[in-house]
Amino acid sequence: MRRGLLIILSSPSGAGKSTLARRLMAWDPNISFSVSATTRAPRPGETDGREYHFRTRAEFQKMVDAQQMLEHAEVFGNLYGTPKAPVESALMAGYDTLFDIDWQGGQQIRNSGLGRDVVSIFVLPPSIAALEERLRGRAQDSDDTIAERMAKSRDEISHWAEYDYVLVNHDVTQAENELRTILMAERMRRERQPGLADFVRGLNSEAGGRQ
Ligand code: ADP
Ligand code: 5GP
Repeated sequence: MRRGLLIILSSPSGAGKSTLARRLMAWDPNISFSVSATTRAPRPGETDGREYHFRTRAEFQKMVDAQQMLEHAEVFGNLYGTPKAPVESALMAGYDTLFDIDWQGGQQIRNSGLGRDVVSIFVLPPSIAALEERLRGRAQDSDDTIAERMAKSRDEISHWAEYDYVLVNHDVTQAENELRTILMAERMRRERQPGLADFVRGLNSEAGGRQ
């Protein structure tokens, strides 16, 4: 069985990574989504356990102290983290797992024991004006929150070169296709095709039998 991939998607807030994540999972329902824990308040339409596990700071800290987090970080004044157990079981079962996390989380997972199965992708907006338009168009954050996220966008973007792949989300369908292409190629890597050596042995013995 192939080991599952850890697909890390990062971007400045509003560049479109949640949209792309949703589309990629609709394309391949076998991709499991890593539901993070966060201390931020739910947005309208968000459900506990689906987008996030919404937790108090005390509950979050308890998970960290019990070493239940694969990584965690403070982002925009709130704590965000990846619960370890569901990721480990998805990977053991051979499922690829998608992470919508920031650069700090990306670094921590890349430097963990799971680093060799990481594929990291950074999503850039076509322009800063488009980024702001998207944050406003999402209509789920207050003006203050949007201003804070815009102010932090430069910092997040400064980490683009730490990622294996970078895509510019001009057109969402094109960006989705690029994402699929990355995933298909990564799944085809020689070391990720566990049956290949046996298959080639079979070809060799068939070729030997014909001589
Ligand atoms: P993120 O998860 O990176 O914060 P979202 O996926 O929530 O960003 O996208 C922010 C907003 O931008 C959403 O309203 C989404 O529908 C919109 N959006 C995403 N991709 C595009 C695109 N290529 N063109 C125009 N709008 C987009
Ligand atoms: P949002 O509040 O818009 O859902 O997310 C804000 C930022 O936190 C985004 O950059 C998102 O990728 C990041 N984030 C979400 N979950 C996690 C997590 O578990 N760990 C880390 N490090 N960042 C996260």
